[in-house]
Amino acid sequence: MKVLSVNAGSSSLKFQMYEMPEEKVLISGVFERIGIHESFYTIKINGEKIRKEVDLPDHKVAFEYLVQELENNHVVESLDEIKGIGHRVVQGGAYFDKTEVATDDVIAKIEELNVLAPLHNPAAIIGIKAAKEVIPNAVQTTVFDTAFHQTMPEENYIYAVPYEWYTDYKVRRYGAHGTSHKYVANRMNELLGRDDTKIITCHIGNGASISAVVNGKCLDTSMGLTPNAGLIMGSRCGDMDATIVTYMMDQLGVSASEMDTILNKKSGVLGITGVSSDMRDIDDGVRSGNERCALAKKMYVRRIIDYIAKYYVEMNGCDAIVFTAGVGENSVSTRRQIMEGLEVLGVHVDEEANNIRGKEGKITTEDSSIPCYVIPTDEELMIARDTYELSK
Ligand code: ADP
Repeated sequence: MKVLSVNAGSSSLKFQMYEMPEEKVLISGVFERIGIHESFYTIKINGEKIRKEVDLPDHKVAFEYLVQELENNHVVESLDEIKGIGHRVVQGGAYFDKTEVATDDVIAKIEELNVLAPLHNPAAIIGIKAAKEVIPNAVQTTVFDTAFHQTMPEENYIYAVPYEWYTDYKVRRYGAHGTSHKYVANRMNELLGRDDTKIITCHIGNGASISAVVNGKCLDTSMGLTPNAGLIMGSRCGDMDATIVTYMMDQLGVSASEMDTILNKKSGVLGITGVSSDMRDIDDGVRSGNERCALAKKMYVRRIIDYIAKYYVEMNGCDAIVFTAGVGENSVSTRRQIMEGLEVLGVHVDEEANNIRGKEGKITTEDSSIPCYVIPTDEELMIARDTYELSK
């Protein structure tokens, strides 16, 4: 059975098609600059990468090109072979704790949550509607970034603000990256050979979050109402004194939306260094003696250690720590510094084993009290698995 995994942004559409249940990737690609001039798409098939410049006025046209490529490359002989299409949705609010079939009611709820994810949810709806038009016989599903975190207890998702903000405005912690945290936590349980575990999952990429996962269920997570909470990220500030926001709005005379842009796009590692939001550039800066890069790296690592320590105590112990996403999978020095900061918990880095990039492996010594692992994340596969279950 063929299943398509789709991630629609406001001007982009990423896709990956799987043969299920074998989980074999048949074709993948991305449409870019949809609705903007100079649009194009790239596809990967049989180890080959192809780029085509085409006019992409909207997502529906992108799906039409996708269908054309599937047929021309004989990935499918008929569109009816595509049984399921899974769509990534960033914000599912408190409505969704699992993947759902994209009925009109589900779409209406996603739309209702647009205010909480103004850039992402509308794009997902556009993607779902376009896919339904072009491939009408497939089961369309919605896979929510927030669903995995719905098992958090109340004390971990309520903010210490007037309670009416929660009841009347839905202000609470929802978390994000849930599909990734679930994927790596499940894989970690497979490696440990049991499900009754306490795992700390560190998804550290450009966006970054940490979760405490007990028996495969989320107990706590670092992102909040929006992804701008918890860790210091590429360009997001993460946790800070909330009153800085109103104080600096007064000082700078900026609007709420301008302040939102500063805190999401001009803060974090980029804000501290003024150099870049990319950890590779920061590491280069550290090597060449840039003091602000060194400061940013220290703060970035410190915050991650703080969250791991918090979740260790909250879970009353920890069976394994997992690193994933861009930095987690590739930055040897970041992982080493985090693990060194956990020495008091009995974590011991295996320098040689830690020297891996983008590959699964254990990176602590045998005598480490908590084993640490790198597990490359695969959100597309997770979407395909859930969609397969709802389509077969
Ligand atoms: P997102 O999905 O949030 O955009 P990714 O998970 O793709 O982010 O991570 C991208 C980030 O990973 C880059 O911005 C960079 O900071 C980091 N990264 C990728 N490769 C390396 C590397 N070799 N060393 C250090 N950091 C890396």
